[in-house]
Formats: sequence, structure tokens, C-alpha cells
Amino acid sequence: MINLFVFLSLVVLATLPGRVSAEGFGFDHWKILKSKHFVCFYKPEYRNDVENLLSSLEATKEKVDELTGGEVKKANVVLDEAGMYSQGFVTWPDYNIHVTTFSPYPGEIGNTYDWYKEVGVHEYTHVSQLTNRKGLNKTFSTIFKGNPVFDAPPLVPLWITEGIAVYTESQFSSYTGRLNDGYYDAWINSLSSQKMLPSINDATHLPLSPSNIAGQYLFGGKFFSYLAEKYGEKAVTEFFNISGRQWWGNLAISILPFPFFTVDYAAKKAFGKSFPKLWEEWKSAQQKTGFINDGERITKRGWTTKNPVVFQDKLYYTCSYPIKTGAYSGFWFKEIIERDIVSQQERTIVKTTSDFSAPFQIKDNNLYYAVYETKRGYPNSFCGRLGSFANLHKKELSSEEDRIIFSDEFRTFRLLPNGEILYSKDKKGAFGSEIYCYNEKENKSHLVANMDYLIDEMVCNEDSIFVVARPEKIALVYIS
Ligand SMILES: [Zn+2]
Repeated sequence: MINLFVFLSLVVLATLPGRVSAEGFGFDHWKILKSKHFVCFYKPEYRNDVENLLSSLEATKEKVDELTGGEVKKANVVLDEAGMYSQGFVTWPDYNIHVTTFSPYPGEIGNTYDWYKEVGVHEYTHVSQLTNRKGLNKTFSTIFKGNPVFDAPPLVPLWITEGIAVYTESQFSSYTGRLNDGYYDAWINSLSSQKMLPSINDATHLPLSPSNIAGQYLFGGKFFSYLAEKYGEKAVTEFFNISGRQWWGNLAISILPFPFFTVDYAAKKAFGKSFPKLWEEWKSAQQKTGFINDGERITKRGWTTKNPVVFQDKLYYTCSYPIKTGAYSGFWFKEIIERDIVSQQERTIVKTTSDFSAPFQIKDNNLYYAVYETKRGYPNSFCGRLGSFANLHKKELSSEEDRIIFSDEFRTFRLLPNGEILYSKDKKGAFGSEIYCYNEKENKSHLVANMDYLIDEMVCNEDSIFVVARPEKIALVYIS
């Protein structure tokens, strides 16, 4: 999701001290917090989050600049709140970093060991790499500030831009970054075992296919990891430095859409080979790893299938898939499917163009499921104060009656044996969760626990509540 003007990307983050100073900012009660290389705009309730974010950025900046060849003296950061919407991106031409406060679910974007560390490193890598201008290129971008030709970010394939950012986000902790959570390895191994790794052309243009679902993040991250390991990080830096001198880069691509004059020229200088040759070399190296799928495959929908639940001899699960509606356009649909285990017949129970925000649950022939919804009123500067919350639906499986029970920013929920609904919400401006209990008959919720752990999932039985929670850095299973 990137164009000439706005670079969007999902991300993550680290820690460190740094003397900071704060001063009031007269617009809508926003504040400013400064560190040596960053100026962050934030709402007062997120002071702790901002300190973590700036500390992480300061702790990792030098290493990122060393890798990308960047020479950033000062960068602006905006900490936005958009409810349950997780995002990080960089704007052009100012290269402001925007980060939202809601930490993604584990596995959604890597381990999410530390959201601010992961997203900060990733987005700052974009700033550092995209502003790497040297020689005449630097002169032109300074003179023609904001010009879509001479000051635009390099028009390169997204597997370069996102690839180096996924690589750096994974370098500061074994528990942070998409290259460290195992999912990317499994994905690449699965594709390579079926000889489905994409050509460099497909990786650049990403035709709508299940194998491209993680696109430039997956292929670019793994490819740059390979380049750094085989040719060394200094060669990667050299590539960006050579690219940074190409004042003709965007002009050449605009007029002559051939990478021969730009990225391949730089690749040959830095790695000794063009990208098409390096890409085939990387694919060949992946084919050697091998991967065997165990078990019998019973669904063949492609795209995403998850949250399997068995209830009264039926299997329920969620799936998501896109429908192409034109060039560069389409809709994603999310469904809850019921599959008769005996007859193998399926029917769609729920269908939405939003998304499910938590695993669903079935109790007493009722399906409880949570769906994202959007409203205005959140303190953010990038999407008209829009943000996300969730509706909890109750659907009677035989009558199809479906209604919303309550709405809130709950990360997960679970039904208690007595029928009440337990749900957790992230604390605002502090790490951890608040647990609430909802009584449907009274239509009321009350706070039952205030925890220093960030709860992602819950299950209950008569005696205990089990939660998957993060005690600040890493997800573990707790029993209370
Ligand atoms: Zn990105």
C-alpha cells in the first residue's frame, strides 16, 4: 500500500533512555516530546507510550542509518490513536512517521514482542532509506523540495522498500520482527516445496493469488535477509548508496520503464549481479530447504483459513478471500463456515466485508462473534479522526436471528459457564488489560480485574480462566 505520496506499511519496535524535554502544543491539546533525533507529537494520556517509542527509535537509529546509508538529522513522529486499528506509515514529502497506539495481535505482524520497537524501526528504516540522497541527487532534492520527479522517493519495487524494513525490524531482538516468528520461514518453505516461489516480475506486480498474500513484506524481507547473509550488510549499504546518487532514477523510470538504468545498475555494482540473477539465486537456495505437509487436507479454499471449532459433530472455521473487481481494485470477504463432518457439506453462517476481531465461540446453539466497526472521534491526524472498535454479535444457529449484544474496544472475549461474557480491553496510555464482565439480562458491564499483562486470548471452564498474555515483552500462557 504505497504510492508516490503516502507510504503505508505495517510494522513494529526497542528501548533506551534519552534525555527528553516536553512543551505544550496549542492545537487540540497535543503535546511535543523531543529526543536527540526525533520530535514526537502525542496526546497527553500517551506520555509513557511516547517515551518508549522515542527511546526505541534513538536506540536503533544508528544501526539503521549504517545499513541504509541514511543521514537523517531530525525526524518527526506522530503517535495517533485509532481505536483497535494498528498501523505505521511515512508521509511524503515531509517523511513524518505515524504510528497508532493499538498493538497488533501476536502473529499478525511478527511476534509483536514490543510493538513500538518493531513499528519504530520499520518506519524509520523507510525514512532513512528513502532520504538517502547523495551528490547531485541531494542537490536536486534540496532545490526542488516536494517535486514529484527530483524529490520523490525512489520509484523502486516494493520488495526493496519493504524488504529492507522487514529485515531491520528483525535485527534488534530474537523475539521481534517478521523474520523471527517462524511464520515467514514456514511460508517460504511451503511455497518452495511446491515450486511456487514467484518470479521477480510477479513479486514486483503481485498478481492476485493466495501465494502473494504477504507480498513484498514476505518476499522482500526474506530476499534481503539472503543478500545480507551471503554478500554482507556492507554490500546492501553500498546498493542504497549507489541508488542514492541516481538523480536520474525517477526520471528514467518515468520515461523509460526499465530497471536496467537504476536498481539493476546499482545491484551489479554492489553485489556483482543484476536483481533477476540474484532473485533466481535466492529461489534456488530456498528450494534446498524442503518442507513436507503432514495430515490430510480437507479444505481447498486458499487464502486464509483459521479458528477451527468443533460443535455437535460440525466443524466451524473462518476464512477470508478477495474478489477482484478491476485493475488494482477488489473486495475482501470474511466468512464463518459450518462444515458437516459426516457429509462434508458446507454452508456460510456469517459473511462480512469487515473483519473478525477475535476468535468466535459457540454456546447453547448460539454463535458469538466479534466484527470490527468504524466511528469518528479518535485523536488522530491521518484519517479524519476515524478509528476501530468491535461489535459482539449473537447469532442463533437454527433461526438465523442475529443481533449486536454490545460494542466496545475489546481485544478478546469468552463466555463464562453461567452465560456472562468476559472480555478484555487494552489500557490506554499504559501497558496491560482491563477485564470486564458483561451481563446480557442487565445489559451492564463491570470491571473485574486490572492487569499489568496485555491479554490477547482467553478460554474458560468451570474452575479457571486461561489467558494468553504479554507481561511486557513476550506472549506466554497464564492461568488465573
Ligand atoms: Zn513498510
